[in-house]
Amino acid sequence: MKQSFFDLTYDDLKALLIEKGFSPFGATQMFNWVYKKWVHDPNEWSNVSKAAKEFFIENYDFSLLKIVWSGLSKDGTRKFLVKMQDGQTVETVAIPARDRLTLCVSSQVGCAVGCTFCHTATQGLKRHLKPSEVVLQYLTVQKFLNDNTSGDKLTNIVYMGQGEPLHNYENMKKATEIFLCQQGLGLGQRRITLSTSGMVPAIEKLAIDFPTVNIAISLHSARNDVRTALMPINKVYDLERLFGAIKKIPLKAHRRITYEYLLIDGMNDQMEDVVALAELLNSKESKINLIPFNEYPGSEYKRPSEEKIMWFLDHMIKRGFTCTIRTTKGSDILAACGQLKSEFDKVNVWDNNSSRPVILPNISRSVRQNLQT
Ligand code: SF4
Repeated sequence: MKQSFFDLTYDDLKALLIEKGFSPFGATQMFNWVYKKWVHDPNEWSNVSKAAKEFFIENYDFSLLKIVWSGLSKDGTRKFLVKMQDGQTVETVAIPARDRLTLCVSSQVGCAVGCTFCHTATQGLKRHLKPSEVVLQYLTVQKFLNDNTSGDKLTNIVYMGQGEPLHNYENMKKATEIFLCQQGLGLGQRRITLSTSGMVPAIEKLAIDFPTVNIAISLHSARNDVRTALMPINKVYDLERLFGAIKKIPLKAHRRITYEYLLIDGMNDQMEDVVALAELLNSKESKINLIPFNEYPGSEYKRPSEEKIMWFLDHMIKRGFTCTIRTTKGSDILAACGQLKSEFDKVNVWDNNSSRPVILPNISRSVRQNLQT
């Protein structure tokens, strides 16, 4: 199997060109062709030497990922299940909001963190994604949008899909370098957000050697006992250790860390939770993003009432916090993280034993229709 060209950062490519006896200036030309002009066939790179083109044709793969399923929600959210060379699949979701179109990318196949509210956690960790498989989620979806919409363009990326990005630190670092590279996609630092469940050693490394991007922390409770019940990682890296590491992240002027707070009925939406959250966070350096729990079949938690959600929001705002509610997007197309992949995998298991797909009754109609065609 050839290595994907999209695994190479600009510096990797330059080093490779030098090692193979080609001009290092070719790196700028190649990144331009591939990322700016969308020309993925080296035969068409007019300003690159014949020998270099032959080398890349023979040794590198330029394919995008295969989209095995896509769905468009009533609110404009597009969800994709994409397949990689080894047949594994991950979800990636394009979410429109105001003047942005944000791609929520996955970092792993499955996840080892085991958050009790998360559908992906039920799949366990299968493997880390390579840098190319992260970059290709972006390129594959943008190509789909080029071909199927009147000019929709991805503007932002969040590492909030399946997987814990900091558990796949080196590969996510490379993917981030590729996204930011001025000779290629040239995305701005403020357009990328890395979200973590709180892997303390990796957070401590962020300040030292990860490109500067926005940081979001999946907090979900400011009380250790509640957070441990929701996120087993809190047993190892409790709030004291987590915030010790967060303090080491250098914040540039006017930048804040976003804290994601999943609101779950009766679990973390009481007055003692409001008080603990207000005591834990610094209102000048934090933004709170409240996410009302999105129930999925079999989930043990419930979404709070609208009144309770507004009550929680109101209390945080009164305490001086910038606090917003993230509205649920794409709820008509299996919106819970990992739900689409799980449903698809169930069908595949059945499919192996039959010449026609056996469609399970609890799969949504939109998925059924796509699988049957
Ligand atoms: S919420 Fe994120 S970190 Fe937690 S299990 Fe799910 S994918 Fe992993």
